Amino acid sequence: MTDSIVDGKLEVKQASKEVKESENVAEKYSAMTVKNTDMNVGELSAAFTAVPTLKSVKKQIQFANQEDKQEFSKFPTKAGRRSLSRSISQSSTDSYSSAASYTDSSDDESSPRDKNQANTKGNSDFCVKNIKQAEFGRREIEIAEQDMSALMALRKRAQGEKPLAGAKIVGCTHITAQTAVLVETLVALGAQCRWTACNIYSTQNEVAAALAESGVAVFAWKGESEDDFWWCIDRCVNSEGWQANMILDDGGDLTHWVYKKYPNVFKKTQGIVEESVTGVHRLYQLSKAGKLCVPAMNVNDSVTKQKFDNLYCCRESILDGLKRTTDVMFGGKQVVVCGYGEVGKGCCMALKALGAIVCITEIDPICALQGCMDGFRVVKLNEVIRSMDMVITCTGNKNVVTREQLDRMKNGCIVCNMGHSNTEIDVASLRTPELTWERVRSQVDHVIWPDGKRVILLAEGRLLNLSCSTVPSFVLSITATTQALALIELYNAPEGRYKQDVYLLPKKMDEYVASLHLPNFDAHLTELSDEQAKYMGLNKNGPFKPNYYRY
Ligand code: NAD
Repeated sequence: MTDSIVDGKLEVKQASKEVKESENVAEKYSAMTVKNTDMNVGELSAAFTAVPTLKSVKKQIQFANQEDKQEFSKFPTKAGRRSLSRSISQSSTDSYSSAASYTDSSDDESSPRDKNQANTKGNSDFCVKNIKQAEFGRREIEIAEQDMSALMALRKRAQGEKPLAGAKIVGCTHITAQTAVLVETLVALGAQCRWTACNIYSTQNEVAAALAESGVAVFAWKGESEDDFWWCIDRCVNSEGWQANMILDDGGDLTHWVYKKYPNVFKKTQGIVEESVTGVHRLYQLSKAGKLCVPAMNVNDSVTKQKFDNLYCCRESILDGLKRTTDVMFGGKQVVVCGYGEVGKGCCMALKALGAIVCITEIDPICALQGCMDGFRVVKLNEVIRSMDMVITCTGNKNVVTREQLDRMKNGCIVCNMGHSNTEIDVASLRTPELTWERVRSQVDHVIWPDGKRVILLAEGRLLNLSCSTVPSFVLSITATTQALALIELYNAPEGRYKQDVYLLPKKMDEYVASLHLPNFDAHLTELSDEQAKYMGLNKNGPFKPNYYRY
């Protein structure tokens, strides 16, 4: 693997991953039936080995260098707690509205760190807002399970097999009902788990309580301070008589903490599974510097994650976020969507379907041409800015909407971001004395110009859907299934299969994740005949596409 930083982008060149045993495994493949989703969990490990020798595939992961390292200075920390040497990542602080919550953390001001709590079995190895909320959390988890059938199927298939027996997983993710389904699946597969939150706002307190009640050592609550955040991570990692041998991270903060405070943990760690763009970027940086001590799986860039999280999830949640915050009617509205990648395409599809008149901006002629073919006018933002009712950014870039453009918007224009963190709209430029900010609802600010013009800014330029709507369990199921499979693979891989490097999920596993979700739709795959398989040069059981195929 070679990678380099070009113009603020991490350019990852995926050289061929020499994975030993791949030839033997090719035979095993033919025995596996992915299409009818009958692959048993023991075979999953084998599936990973068949990473075909790739022709060089070039991939770009965008990140904002400075933003990723942005200091977290605004959130209050508790006086008297120990100081910290590193601020938490941007993704840890992006506002994130978890699924509907039965309880509200604001009814009890005391810090969970000051409470002595125990679950009904007398176990007190956890720290949550209120263990008594466990029953409500259990209901939330049961609702999520209904739309996460792939994980439930994994649990069933693993019965008696326990592919994660002996695994000690320390996890740092959003703690929501959907994550709880993942954690309980890992436990059902034989793992012991200690869990903490990757985001100070996103924990569903009752779900954390339900996990603690079921025996998972969980340290998280909604509205943690920065100090609490690190304290929770530390409690997860630093437990007497228990040492993690697997890491599941979302954002890279847990991995960072282990590197910094408990590097010895890596002596026994069999792998890191990382979900986020930011965390994956950090792993590639470590790899490049020769400092990555264990194999890591980049779950973020698996095809199923990219397509579902970026395209379909945004297609569903853009309208939800806009409606909840503004009650806007979409029919006939003039909308400009900046960036016509996966997220932009999802947003455009949804807006167009409701009768909005959508135009797009792009820097890339291929994406621009795609936009044209899909029936959208491709414009420069400056050409249309005066007449737009909504401006939506989806570029992963910075300063896509500038103060000058905000000045030229018409009264009542809605401005929001679906792309990267809070960098796309130059919100900081709006914090000037001549402009008045009026908070009209949670996550909705009217920014008022001296002449009375109002621009409606949503979620202060942070991700609209994470801040103002919910994310469908089904989409999260796909990511969670991928995470579970990546953990199983890294844990069961024979020594030497994975080196101290960052790996992408093999195509076969992406296909398997997708196939596990097909029964939800009563979808029936067509099977290749022997003749057809030969003609196409494919194994009847997949993989069905080369790694360079673009879906
Ligand atoms: P992508 O690379 O497929 O698309 C981004 C597009 O923006 C590209 O086509 C690029 O050419 C274009 N672009 C870049 N700078 C531009 C500019 N100044 N003006 C116009 N166009 C520009 O990426 P993606 O998968 O669509 O993701 C975009 C961003 O959304 C990323 O930051 C990603 O992390 C984030 N994301 C958000 C969610 C969410 O739930 N809101 C989900 C997934 C990803």
